[in-house]
Amino acid sequence: MYLEKLNSQQRLAVEHGTASEGRHVAGPLLVIAGAGSGKTNTLAHRVAHLIVKGADPYRILLMTFSRRAASEMTRRVGRICAEVLGTNASAMADSLNWSGTFHGIGARFLRDYAEQIGLDPAFTIHDREDSADLLNLIRQELGFSKTESRFPGKGACLAIYSRAVNSQKELGLVLKESFPWCVGWEAQLRELFIAYVEAKQAQNVLDYDDLLLYWAQMVSEPLIAEEIGSRFDHIMVDEYQDTNRLQASILMALKPDGQGLTVVGDDAQSIYSFRAAEVRNILDFPGSFEPAAKIITLEQNYRSTQPILKAANAVIDLARERFTKNLWTDRESSRRPRLVTVRDESEQARYVADLVLDNREEGLKLKQQAVLFRASHHSGALEVELTRRNIPFVKFGGLKFLDSAHVKDMLAALRFVQNPRDKVAGFRLMLLLPGVGPASAGRALDLMAADRNPILTLSEMQAPPRAGSEWTEFVSVLQELKGGNYDWATEIARLREWYQPHLERLHEDAPTRLADIEQLEQIAASYPSRERFLTELTLDPPDATSDHAGAPLLDEDYLILSTIHSAKGQEWTRVFMLNVVDGCIPSDLAVGTSAEIEEERRLLYVAMTRARDQLDLIVPQRFFTHGQNAQGDRHVYAARSRFLPATLLQFFEVCSPTQSKSDVQSSQAARQVRIDMAARMRGMWK
Ligand code: ATP
Ligand code: MG
Repeated sequence: MYLEKLNSQQRLAVEHGTASEGRHVAGPLLVIAGAGSGKTNTLAHRVAHLIVKGADPYRILLMTFSRRAASEMTRRVGRICAEVLGTNASAMADSLNWSGTFHGIGARFLRDYAEQIGLDPAFTIHDREDSADLLNLIRQELGFSKTESRFPGKGACLAIYSRAVNSQKELGLVLKESFPWCVGWEAQLRELFIAYVEAKQAQNVLDYDDLLLYWAQMVSEPLIAEEIGSRFDHIMVDEYQDTNRLQASILMALKPDGQGLTVVGDDAQSIYSFRAAEVRNILDFPGSFEPAAKIITLEQNYRSTQPILKAANAVIDLARERFTKNLWTDRESSRRPRLVTVRDESEQARYVADLVLDNREEGLKLKQQAVLFRASHHSGALEVELTRRNIPFVKFGGLKFLDSAHVKDMLAALRFVQNPRDKVAGFRLMLLLPGVGPASAGRALDLMAADRNPILTLSEMQAPPRAGSEWTEFVSVLQELKGGNYDWATEIARLREWYQPHLERLHEDAPTRLADIEQLEQIAASYPSRERFLTELTLDPPDATSDHAGAPLLDEDYLILSTIHSAKGQEWTRVFMLNVVDGCIPSDLAVGTSAEIEEERRLLYVAMTRARDQLDLIVPQRFFTHGQNAQGDRHVYAARSRFLPATLLQFFEVCSPTQSKSDVQSSQAARQVRIDMAARMRGMWK
């Protein structure tokens, strides 16, 4: 029976408030504990247990930090329930209809209540890049891009806007605290943000932050909050340490008395302050209710071996502030984690590739091994090495697939069909057409936005003077699709047909890109509608990059490459961490405040605690930087990360790859050799 596999604390959490039959009312519950202690597992068991005890799965709201984590959780729940109830596991998982990310769930409620809050339910969602583009457009319209001293760039503007929204703080304070170099622009920024909000409303688009902001605003109306809250008997949140003020306010509005609310997390793994995550959320949770929430802590780590856990604990012990206790484990091993010094990034890449293959020879699947890094571009050299050796891999946290121009074109087309007032999407599409420039595209879009029937306006419009038959073709495709003549699968196929000639005209490597579009079509086929597809994809994009590894099929074996942020919550038998040097971790972008440094320390802790049996931290001595300085690209000498001071070396096996030692010896030997070349040259003709 599933309960017997749990330890007593986990079991307490799973059974909390479920003693009586029927619809359960359980007081607020917080499970707080370190990495690998079974928090996520406990949450899955709790959901399953509630269902076994009679709770209605449709009345459970389950929120995790990524779509991947959400589907992993529903699968687990399905399995446990199926085991006990003898039901079909995947049907059970499907009935957990309200499982997803905060942003994804928010989008669904906003569509549901669109009319009440004055939104057109056909709204589309801008990803970060679209939002930055729109801000940029407005920045130019307002003339701020031509100011004498430099006005903050579009990226900075978006970061400021987003921070203010998510932290719920006054603009002035946000500038002072987080963007001090922009303090002088407060009035202009305010003007920019007002215009930005108006533009979004006129175009019927929401950005990421709006999904939380609108949701929070909507549930600040008690009647709506109560209606949504009463749809659910249970609301559960994983990784609560990475939620921000808005998310906490939404939860509190839905369940003001905390009944049915369960959150789990670990303050030592809080790594999202750049999105205004508030570690105080988890610390303040218990006191937010009357009577206070029940707190359950877990103490045993089931993931890692003792030496790995000891080393990770030692790293986090140096943190300035923490609340969760160190964990223990009974998984003994004589193998300490390795701290491997290599010459440079290419030796690092060879080292990882060699070992990954050795491990596979010994029977460890590629999928059970992962390579982690602080920033997405750190894996460049390794990606080249893996490709050269034909080792398939999938990269998480890089988002290359969706970043590519052709995939973005297709998505823009779908978005424009969905919402013809979306100027960012429309602009992108019209500029694809030969003979259409920014001015005529802008005029067309303005006319469309001003009309109740934008597509009709478009079709009655005169084609821009230099545009050819492509313009007519473009208009008629939009009309066809907007006319609702096709089902969803045919629709995307029809768009591809339209797009293909443009793709071939614009890109030399069209065949590779077409393969991506086909992959996009396949992904699309698994969604019920255009609207769901666009929403989910914009909020939590797939990470596979087909240009490197070939489209990975589910049953294929591949190595995982991931940023630490995207590795959250996961585990692998064997973990390699690249570039454990100062400048990479802590990142040189984050050495401003001590709060930033502390977050970088927690990132290293998160990385280390992903490993089950073996962990290699790699320290390249020379490091190649893409120069923004006068000298251009150059090598710099790197020092071991400051989070691993000499006192911590005792927890590691400090080594360098044997291969490189012999390399060093042979290169030293080579240097001893002396040749009298002049004599040889003369000798040749004798
Ligand atoms: P993180 O902080 O990294 O998110 P977590 O606390 O959520 O970790 P889980 O991922 O739930 O931890 O569990 C870690 C591992 O321990 C998983 O492989 C899980 O199956 C295993 N595990 C959890 N509880 C038990 C248990 N009672 N007995 C055996 N294994 C367990
Ligand atoms: Mg977890």
